Amino acid sequence: MRAVAVFPKTRQVRVIDTPYPRPVTGNQVLLRILEVGICGTDREIADFHHGAPPAGSDHLILGHEALAQVVETGPEVTAVSVGELVVPTVRRPCPHRTCAPCRAHRQDFCVTGDFVERGIKGADGFLQEHVVEEDEYLIRVHPKLADVAVLTEPLSIAAKAAEQGAAIQQRLPWERSRVRGLVLGAGPVGLLGALSMVVRHLDTFVYSLEPATDVRAKIAGQLGATYVSGSEVALGEFAGRIGAMDLIYEAVGISSVGFDALGALGPNGLMVFTGVPSPGKPRPFDTDALMRDLVLKNQLVFGTVNASRSAFETALHELEQGMFLFPEAVRSLITRRHPIEEAPALITARGGIKQVVHLADASKP
Ligand code: BGC
Repeated sequence: MRAVAVFPKTRQVRVIDTPYPRPVTGNQVLLRILEVGICGTDREIADFHHGAPPAGSDHLILGHEALAQVVETGPEVTAVSVGELVVPTVRRPCPHRTCAPCRAHRQDFCVTGDFVERGIKGADGFLQEHVVEEDEYLIRVHPKLADVAVLTEPLSIAAKAAEQGAAIQQRLPWERSRVRGLVLGAGPVGLLGALSMVVRHLDTFVYSLEPATDVRAKIAGQLGATYVSGSEVALGEFAGRIGAMDLIYEAVGISSVGFDALGALGPNGLMVFTGVPSPGKPRPFDTDALMRDLVLKNQLVFGTVNASRSAFETALHELEQGMFLFPEAVRSLITRRHPIEEAPALITARGGIKQVVHLADASKP
């Protein structure tokens, strides 16, 4: 069967022939992969900046944003049934008894770093025709969400950030009638972050470099957010011209943008970083101003990575709300569906919002 793999030693990304999985046992589930989304992390892996093949293998099968269909279940599986659609989570726990987060099924907070991530670090991913997965890592998807459910994984990043943000802001024990949220970046993670804010009734702004006539700006508007173009408003002027924000969700992966945006953060505000910047040249930064604001305005900056099962479930609810409120805008986040042969070129190229590899159509059990 076909798969798309990266070979770090020879620096290649190509379609390979890989063995069909062995029969499932115990709590294993055989999945037919229907769709896989491509993201910046795949590009970083293909650029050999991030990720690693499974131990002892010379290649890593890519793909961590997947929609799949259950084809066969092991005798102990009760959580999913043949024919159902599912989205797999990405991270698997480390083996250490002392890692409290992993032992509590919260490997998104693993402290040892010995977790594996399917399609990213130490474990093959979902960009292959069939995969075996344990049932506890599968989230069921309503068939009516089939055409957009491949967006669940990137949306789960926003859902985890929101979960964490809500827990942190319990430090403000009063009713907040209106919360203003700013998303930095109008790529897929940014636009999905905007969707997540809008369905949680935040006054949502999206700030990105593209002009206000760009398709991304249009989608932000259709999602119910206000688009602010970097070509019209400099980040340093944002608070003065648009207002101070209660929450800023960074989805550009450029540290200078993230830190420059701190000027737009209001009193008691939260800034959440999700991007993993490639190492660049150090640049001067006004740490006095940063510390002064953090202290005098009770501000908080935190980072978030990966997502738990509950964040995937929240993401599916948010997707459902998005499909009820603005189905066309949500659908238009998927730029194009491509056959597997085009995957290597897609991973190395740029363009569009979310490019998706289509491997199979859902079929009746
Ligand atoms: C994925 C996360 C993962 C992170 C770091 C992101 O692209 O969505 O699941 O934890 O990369 O590898």
